[in-house]
Amino acid sequence: MSKSVLVINCGSSSIKFALLLEQQDFRIHGLAENLGTADARIKGVTVGNEPVDIHIPFADHKKALEVGLERLANYKPDAIGHRVVHGGSLTKAELINDDIIEHIRAAIPLAPLHNHAHLIGIEATQRLFPDLPQVAVFDTAFHQTMPAHAYRYAVPKFLYTEHGVRRYGFHGTSHAYVSERGSALAGSFKQGGWLTAHLGNGSSTCAIWNGQSVDTSMGLTPLEGLVMGTRSGDVDPSLHSFLAKNLGWDIYKIDKMLNSQSGLLGLSDLSNDMRTLIDASEKGNEDATLAIEVFCYRLAKSLAALSCGLPELNGLFFTGGIGENSAYIREKTMSYLPHFGFNLNKDANNALKRGTEGRIDAGTGPQIWVVPTDEEGRIAQEVHHVVDAHVGQQLLKKSELKTELA
Ligand code: ADP
Repeated sequence: MSKSVLVINCGSSSIKFALLLEQQDFRIHGLAENLGTADARIKGVTVGNEPVDIHIPFADHKKALEVGLERLANYKPDAIGHRVVHGGSLTKAELINDDIIEHIRAAIPLAPLHNHAHLIGIEATQRLFPDLPQVAVFDTAFHQTMPAHAYRYAVPKFLYTEHGVRRYGFHGTSHAYVSERGSALAGSFKQGGWLTAHLGNGSSTCAIWNGQSVDTSMGLTPLEGLVMGTRSGDVDPSLHSFLAKNLGWDIYKIDKMLNSQSGLLGLSDLSNDMRTLIDASEKGNEDATLAIEVFCYRLAKSLAALSCGLPELNGLFFTGGIGENSAYIREKTMSYLPHFGFNLNKDANNALKRGTEGRIDAGTGPQIWVVPTDEEGRIAQEVHHVVDAHVGQQLLKKSELKTELA
């Protein structure tokens, strides 16, 4: 039975890590950021809530993990969980071995920045903790229960059968955690039909029926769907040929524009950060006001569309930095969604304190809840399951061997 779990989330220019200690609410966590630059550093908190700030000029992923993890090694994790964005067709968390590493590598074309960085993280932790079990927890795995009519695109069949072109969906760890926690709070654990809205720098919606994902807004890559911090979400696919023909842009330039210069940042021409935009809008900035309006309208539209995946709609969960903290965005979004009988209790919505869970509907129609996500906690839980199942299998093998020898 694994006890304390080190959770690693290795991104393209940053690494988040957290050590979830046995039987404690307290977590040691850190963020290595600005990797590869003169300003690279590790920030976080350690035991006793002591802040940590280590300057590691020009450190790359390997160096940052070494510096961060050497300090954590004193607390002896029993297992390591890696958040992996793209698991291709893998349907659940897996103990990392050569075969799983090949799966992650094979999915690099589908998530080039993320999966490449995850492999660097896995290699570094395997070197630093050669004896510890390591588990890959995939963002895509929760969505592998989607029916074909939700995950297939209307493009020639061979692109799916030979090249894996389909909707995969992301943020699965968060949608899984929030829908389980939320349905438990609502008194119907993993029962009924729920919508989740994970709203952070990346944002996505999900429809969940009896605890299983049946549709989600992100697609082949995490670009599809909602308006995000710097990502456009849905655009007319012909935008690509329009820009190529009329502006002479190549595919790399178009890709960069859609991923890094669009979304809230592109619309507002000001910031990708929702707090900044709300402040600017209050001061009369019209572009910021429009960016917020597009964000909320497109979110409501996505939720309405995803409700088609549910035989019945019990309610909606808001989560992520924006979903958990902004009563304003929740109210504006719900104002576009009167259609299913949704009825927001504005006082309860405004009164909800940062970081707390609570119900914010008026008691008629589908329920509306705010449920703070806990991706690290969920990853640690999945690591426990995988490691325990593996230990169980080993014990079974040993006892079978003994019986054979006897
Ligand atoms: P990530 O996807 O990087 O994990 P988060 O879930 O932390 O991101 O969400 C970041 C977003 O949450 C930012 O746009 C930030 O402005 C927004 N946010 C955080 N607090 C608030 C708040 N009180 N009101 C509005 N937006 C907020």
